[in-house]
Amino acid sequence: MRITGECHCGEIAFEAELDPEKVGICHCTDCQVTSASAFRTIAMVDAAGFRLMRGTPKTYVKTADSGNQRALTFCGTCGTALYSATTDPEPAVLNLRAGIIDQRHDLPPRYEIWCRSALPWLKPVADTIRYEFQFT
Ligand SMILES: [Zn+2]
Ligand SMILES: [Zn+2]
Repeated sequence: MRITGECHCGEIAFEAELDPEKVGICHCTDCQVTSASAFRTIAMVDAAGFRLMRGTPKTYVKTADSGNQRALTFCGTCGTALYSATTDPEPAVLNLRAGIIDQRHDLPPRYEIWCRSALPWLKPVADTIRYEFQFT
């Protein structure tokens, strides 16, 4: 499915090809902090199908407890999170932030990952497959 989106201030805009089965929720503690929210909704898209239409995003590289590095991309003006990826200069997959997708109303999450660190007052969101950790 073809999707579009932009950051809050409009400086960054993009298009992508997306598989609705690959929309989910991440409960990891890094997502809680970097999204400043209870969890993050993500959509895994092939980088080959992602096109930046406008703007130049900024990137912050975070190091997880495991030592793994992830590049978090966001709008440097309004701070809207855009996607994360490996630190490879040409990553294969982007974890797009589902909240910035114009068609997000039609993209319910299919899975939840890192449920072991989900906030205790949260109930399972919907008809999702739940994983304690990452995908196995
Ligand atoms: Zn912006
Ligand atoms: Zn996460």
